[in-house]
Amino acid sequence: MERKKTRVVKIGNVAIGRDNPVAIQSMCNSKTEDVEATVKQILELEAAGCELIRVTVPTKEAAYALPKIKEQIHIPLIADIHFDYKLAILAIENGADKIRINPGNIGSEDRVKAVVEKAKEYNVPIRVGVNSGSLERNYLMKYGGVTAEGIVESAMEKVAMLEKYDFHDIVISIKSSDVMMTIKSYELISEQTDYPLHVGVTESGSATTGNIKSAIGIGTLLYEGIGDTIRVSLTDAPVEEIYSAKTILKALKLRDDGVEVVSCPTCGRTSIDLMSLAKKVEDYTKQFNNSIKVAVMGCVVNGPGEGRNADLGICGGKGQGLIIKKGEIIAKVPEDELFDRFKEEFNKLL
Ligand code: SF4
Repeated sequence: MERKKTRVVKIGNVAIGRDNPVAIQSMCNSKTEDVEATVKQILELEAAGCELIRVTVPTKEAAYALPKIKEQIHIPLIADIHFDYKLAILAIENGADKIRINPGNIGSEDRVKAVVEKAKEYNVPIRVGVNSGSLERNYLMKYGGVTAEGIVESAMEKVAMLEKYDFHDIVISIKSSDVMMTIKSYELISEQTDYPLHVGVTESGSATTGNIKSAIGIGTLLYEGIGDTIRVSLTDAPVEEIYSAKTILKALKLRDDGVEVVSCPTCGRTSIDLMSLAKKVEDYTKQFNNSIKVAVMGCVVNGPGEGRNADLGICGGKGQGLIIKKGEIIAKVPEDELFDRFKEEFNKLL
């Protein structure tokens, strides 16, 4: 697939846009003021593969916590600001690598100008984030409700508010909780601008629903070449967002890091507890960023075949299973020892 030629924007030491890899990001759900809890969460996210992290900055204390957090983490730190332009300025002064604001909700032009001047001074990009849930009344009236056209026009108006002060270090997001509207909005805006796009489906739900909606929304856009950084929003632990983002990027062959697990759906031929086994394998392997393919199959119908195409495979039998490594059967082990033996062999591949 050919990716849209967007501008390059640097967020700390991570560049997004144009040919840079699609960056994975998430947002902490800890209180930013609680430095210890926030650092702990960010380090866990980093280990899982998170490349940009956002924290909310609703208070001065949160802004003052930013430098303390930054000195203990290794990925760029983004400050999420709503309504208060002074907090945006304070976040920049306290080391935020990027800020996310909606210039439409921070008040008068003077305030927007003050934030822009500070962002310029510190070389900090701004993400203009517009969500369907907060679309202004004039666009609701103009388009008869929340529409992709309204969301795009609102976002471009906010971008113009920054451009007016000769600021172009911009990333745009225009999220909706409606998947089709998200796709349409991003398609429209990508025809109108070359600023890099932060893509995601907002408020998408808990793991099952959220992953499906995100995979369709983000996946469709990436397949069309749209999107420079992604966030999977889940009502779940933030680390789950990273695993999901990695799976989406891997499925689209935009990344080859991370473990890919292939497992069969089970059927009447399955004679071992494949569901628990596949779950254990997935839970264990998702923490690693190595490019390894694993197959967990229920029987000899497709097991040896998939096993051969994987770096490591398990093929179930009656109360036992085969371990297949790089196409070779290396062991036949009882069912209750399958996972431990798998782990042992998997660890050798790391
Ligand atoms: Fe059934 Fe075997 Fe296919 Fe799994 S691999 S779905 S157990 S036939």
